[in-house]
Amino acid sequence: MGTGVDSVARESGPTRWVETTDRFNGFCPLGHATMMLPTHALAGMLLGLAAGYAVPEFAGVALVAGLLGGILPDLDMYVGHRRTLHYPVYYAALASGTLVLASLLPSALTVGAAVLLLGAATHSVADVFGGGLELRPWEATSDRAVYDHYNSRWLEPRRWVRYDGSPGDLLLSTALSVPLFWSVEGVLEGVVAASLGVAVVYTALRRVLPTIADAILGSVLPALPRRVRSRVPERYLRSHSAAEQTTSR
Ligand SMILES: [Zn+2]
Repeated sequence: MGTGVDSVARESGPTRWVETTDRFNGFCPLGHATMMLPTHALAGMLLGLAAGYAVPEFAGVALVAGLLGGILPDLDMYVGHRRTLHYPVYYAALASGTLVLASLLPSALTVGAAVLLLGAATHSVADVFGGGLELRPWEATSDRAVYDHYNSRWLEPRRWVRYDGSPGDLLLSTALSVPLFWSVEGVLEGVVAASLGVAVVYTALRRVLPTIADAILGSVLPALPRRVRSRVPERYLRSHSAAEQTTSR
């Protein structure tokens, strides 16, 4: 019986296509976390805010590092999403060591590194509590949330936040932004406002994004080389041929 790693290695072309479609769905590269990217960004900033209270002289560095750490894991969106840069165990271990170092030798470098790693660890662990890695995560058919490199297996989604861009996700984003609005100003306040604005728009559009992805794929299918087209899942081919019959009538 194969392990999770083996089965991933054996994934066929169509499966890869489905994952590509899933990523394409983020032509708006905000989702595809189990929570939307603004939620992770705001959570990272909040960690930075807390660190800034501990070491006020590095508060600015901590906020920026938290923001970057919250975003960092999702930079794997187009290359092995939720696996290449998501390390729920290793980031946490590194963050613990770096936090000790930062508390002993506080500097812009140690504080920044500690908060960045803590933000990335929090993101990677938080993704377990969202939805699965699938085109329509509200259907809850995927058993993959985040890859655990330490145990060489996919962690299952807990769906406390049902999916990225769900009303619960927006509520979480909003709650995270409150203490930030209260405490930060200038450019960083603008970042918080922009994150929240994007979160609102993304939540409003989230449910129709897969339909848009389907429609666009259907329209580009005829232009695809046969080799590529043979890898397109049957359901896309079916919907496209149905559309062709409708227009030819
Ligand atoms: Zn993520």
